[in-house]
Amino acid sequence: MDIMETNRTDTRGLVKKLLAICPICNKQVYGNDINLSSIDKNRITHWPLPYVYCHSHKNGPMHALTMYLDANFAVRAREVSNFITIQKKNS
Ligand SMILES: [Zn+2]
Repeated sequence: MDIMETNRTDTRGLVKKLLAICPICNKQVYGNDINLSSIDKNRITHWPLPYVYCHSHKNGPMHALTMYLDANFAVRAREVSNFITIQKKNS
């Protein structure tokens, strides 16, 4: 199995991988939730990768879970915040 083949297998497996459990709402975050398979690892120059996942769960308030992913997409650390603003440029 060459390296490319290994990467593809990894990405597919990640969809169902449990990455973290949100400490605010206890939501289980899977690779599929944050679209991990769309990340092109070749374009990432700095690890761990901070990935901010904004969500609300069971009609709770919106909050952000930041997951620090290593090159194997394992969560090395996480941070949460209840204070977020997402601003679009053209609104
Ligand atoms: Zn949460």
